[in-house]
Amino acid sequence: MPTSSSDLRPKSLTVPADSRTYDIDFVSLAGVPAHLRTLGLHGPNVVIVTDENVAAHYRSPLVHAFEADGWKPHVVVVPPGESSKSLERLEMLYDTLLPIGLERSTPVCTLGGGVVGDVGGFAAATLLRGVPLVHLPTSLLAQVDSSIGGKTGINHAVGKNLIGSFYQPHGVLVDPETLLTLPAREWINGMAETIKHGLIADAALVAYLDEHLVDILGHHSLEATVPAIRQAMAVKARVVGHDEREAGKRAYLNFGHTFAHAIEQVAGYGTVAHGEAVAIGMRAALYLSWQRHGDALDRERLDTLLTRLPLPDVSHLDFDALWTAMRHDKKTKDGRIRFVLLKALADPYVADDCAKPAVERAWDFVQQSPA
Ligand code: ADP
Ligand code: ZN
Repeated sequence: MPTSSSDLRPKSLTVPADSRTYDIDFVSLAGVPAHLRTLGLHGPNVVIVTDENVAAHYRSPLVHAFEADGWKPHVVVVPPGESSKSLERLEMLYDTLLPIGLERSTPVCTLGGGVVGDVGGFAAATLLRGVPLVHLPTSLLAQVDSSIGGKTGINHAVGKNLIGSFYQPHGVLVDPETLLTLPAREWINGMAETIKHGLIADAALVAYLDEHLVDILGHHSLEATVPAIRQAMAVKARVVGHDEREAGKRAYLNFGHTFAHAIEQVAGYGTVAHGEAVAIGMRAALYLSWQRHGDALDRERLDTLLTRLPLPDVSHLDFDALWTAMRHDKKTKDGRIRFVLLKALADPYVADDCAKPAVERAWDFVQQSPA
C-alpha cells in the first residue's frame, strides 16, 4: 500500500455478486455521466436521489454534468438522517418517479451517505421490479462500507433495517473530493468502520492507520485517506463476495456491533452515532478476545488506535440494560448472544458462549479507560 500518494484516482476494484460482478471506480462527479455509458446505461432519463446537505454542495455540478452529456436528470431530495429511511419517504419517491416516464432501463443514482443509499437503493430495487442502481457514496462510511454488498432498505417502528432487499448495484463510483465537505463527526464514523475492516481482515491496513490516522482525522488529508478507503473497500468487497447473504464470513463485519447496537439503543437512537458506538463496541470485543487469547492479540496497540478516535462518554450507560438489549438483538439465537472475536489480528470468529461476567468485565474496562 502506498504510504503517501497524490493519486486520488486509484485502480478500480471488482465485487463478485451472484451471477455477475460490479466494479468500484474512483471517478470525479463530472465524469459520472460518461462512466454510466461505459457501464451500458443510457438516458435520456436519469434519477438522482440525494439529501439536503449533499444537494447543497453537489446537486448542481452533477446535474450540469448530466445535462452537458445529453441526459435528462430528475433529482429527488430527502431530508438528511435516519428518518428518511421510512415508508412515507419511499412512497414519496414512488410518487415522484413513476410519473416521469421511468423505464426498466432508467438508472437511479444515489448521491450521499448510507441513508440515501439505503432508501434510494430500495426504491431502485422495487420500481418496475428493479431498475439499474448506481451508488455515488459521499460519506466515508458509505464509501468504505454501506455502498458495497447490496443491502438496501428502510426502518420500521419495530426496529432498524427490517424492510428491504439485497439488490446489487451496477457500479459504485467514488469521488474522494466530496469528502472535503464532510463534517468532522462523520469522518470519525467512517474511520471506525475503516479500522474495523483492518482488524477483521487486513493487518497492513491497521499498520497504515497506525501511521496515518493523524493526517486523516486531524487534517482530512485526501492523500492519506484514499489508500485507506481503497484498502477498506477491498476488504468489504472480498467478504461480501464470498458470502452475499451473511451466513458465514459476512458475520465478521459485525465485529464491535453486538455492543454497538445495544449502546445505540440504550443511549437513545441518534445520541451516540453508529460509528462511535462501533468503535466503543470494538474496544469491548478486543478486551473479550484478549481475555480468551491473551498474548496472541496485541490488545494495547489495537486499543490505542481506537482510542485515538474522539469518542463520546458512555460511562452512564447501565451494563444490565446493555445486556438486556444484546439478548434481544435480532442476531441473538436461542438467547445466546453472538460476538465476533479475534484470535489474533485479522483472524476473526463468531462466539456464542461469552458468559455475562466476562462481558461485564469488558464493559468495565471500556468505561474505566475512556477514549
Ligand atoms: P452514513 O453515515 O451512513 O453515511 P448518512 O447518510 O446519514 O449516514 O450521512 C451522514 C451525514 O453526512 C448526513 O447528514 C449527510 O447529509 C452528510 N453527508 C454525507 N456526505 C456528505 C458530504 N460529502 N458533504 C457534506 N455532508 C455529507
Ligand atoms: Zn456498522
